[in-house]
Amino acid sequence: MSPTDRTAPDALLTVTGLHKSFGDNEVLKGIDLAVRRGKVLVLIGPSGSGKTTVLRSINGLEIPDAGIVTSTDGIRVDYSAKPPKKDILTLRDRTAMVFQHYNLFPHMTVLENIIEGPVQVQGVSKTVATEEAVALLERVGLAEKRDVYPFQLSGGQAQRVGIVRALALKPQLLLFDEPTSALDPELVGDVLAVMKELADEGWTMVVVTHELAFARQVADEVLFMDGGVIVERGAPKDIFTAPKQERTKQFLHRILSPLD
Ligand code: ADP
Ligand code: MG
Repeated sequence: MSPTDRTAPDALLTVTGLHKSFGDNEVLKGIDLAVRRGKVLVLIGPSGSGKTTVLRSINGLEIPDAGIVTSTDGIRVDYSAKPPKKDILTLRDRTAMVFQHYNLFPHMTVLENIIEGPVQVQGVSKTVATEEAVALLERVGLAEKRDVYPFQLSGGQAQRVGIVRALALKPQLLLFDEPTSALDPELVGDVLAVMKELADEGWTMVVVTHELAFARQVADEVLFMDGGVIVERGAPKDIFTAPKQERTKQFLHRILSPLD
């Protein structure tokens, strides 16, 4: 079975015919993708191509104009047909997003940031949420930071907290939107290492990134987006070493040889 087959039986989530405009600007022009259980889907493409909007649509933060999102456990949201809010919220609950700029609450400690979702949204007791948060912080080497505020963290630490906050929600699917692009270069590795570990553990992930070496190593499938469409998709070794489409070639060349 091809990794791009939308009817793949192991697809955790499928997206069909996703369209989104902001005013006159048609940003997504029919996106189809399948996120397979335990796999890592990497989304690459130039700025403005619609990558963030795809993630936000999967997460229910953005309401598409048209398109169908289905999950294996029977949720089917058809945005052309005024879907019930509760279905959109259910989908949102299945996913958790890691943002480029971390989006931690500045007035809350690290621990408070992490337990906010589980306690306030999911109804987990504070004791249990705290125990789980502490265990997750230990995993990413930040146990001693539980009571500090976000401004006291380096970017790399803040993003690892961002990842822990997503994990604490126990989502089926982790969405990463350029998680390392706001970081100083020497801090990127720590965050990528955590992401690699999660992939190895079998988390299902959709990752928007310009870290091509990471993508090459961790992705099961790579989608190249440009101008609101998926121009090319395939296994990382094919996309990165033998892209077929001219636009993919140009994009990769620009990233790999920016001075040409
Ligand atoms: P990418 O993540 O690939 O850089 P985005 O999905 O952020 O692309 O944006 C795609 C296009 O949609 C851009 O032209 C952007 O300006 C526009 N856009 C994104 N979000 C909004 C919004 N909330 N309102 C208006 N335009 C938006
Ligand atoms: Mg973006």
